[in-house]
Amino acid sequence: MTPAGVTELDLLDIAPEARAAAAPAAAAAGADIDVIRRAADTCRACDLWERATQTVFGVGPVPARIMLVGEQPGDQEDRAGEPFVGPAGKMLDKALAEAGMSREQTFVTNVVKHFRWKPVPGTKRRLHERPSKVQVGACLPWVAAELEIVRPQALVLLGATAAAGLLGSDVRVTRDRGRPLPSNLAPHVFVTIHPSAILRAGEASSRADAFNGFRDDLAAVVRAITA
Ligand code: SF4
Repeated sequence: MTPAGVTELDLLDIAPEARAAAAPAAAAAGADIDVIRRAADTCRACDLWERATQTVFGVGPVPARIMLVGEQPGDQEDRAGEPFVGPAGKMLDKALAEAGMSREQTFVTNVVKHFRWKPVPGTKRRLHERPSKVQVGACLPWVAAELEIVRPQALVLLGATAAAGLLGSDVRVTRDRGRPLPSNLAPHVFVTIHPSAILRAGEASSRADAFNGFRDDLAAVVRAITA
């Protein structure tokens, strides 16, 4: 069966290895977000499911005015099964609130739905590892299906992995952040830093600067959809 012929019911019958590729067509054919989420629960389109606890699919209203896409679930998100519930999520909530938007008004997801990590020798810690291009490519159809259903006015890509995955490697977050970019993915498309970068920014003054820049980028998104 070609992905273009996929219907809502077909998606759950497709082999776990092939289901991601078929998801955007199923969404376009009318599959709702719960069908897509259930199909992603048992996705095997790349190797990341083997060491992760569960698929972490997007959450939020459908449709939503803003859709935020990060890199991948972190340790806490992997355990909770929800995106942005850890420290980076708290940073995101604070910046959204200061920008004039609440998390509840946004659909929040990641470009990769399983946690990639490596063990820290001698500890039980799981250290984040950036997903490979192959893993990002394998997972992209799930974001495409989410976009098809959420249909946001503004799509905001958080960090280099999400930006490169959806817009290509020519995009540079430091150069292109905080202003509308040409793309047919949504009426307004922005890139900015991933909120975890604020937590890694070092001294308190550097973290404050990073936070203020992030909040200002989100405020530009809010202005764009309320203009
Ligand atoms: S990371 Fe994405 S493509 Fe890979 S198994 Fe998980 S849901 Fe499927």
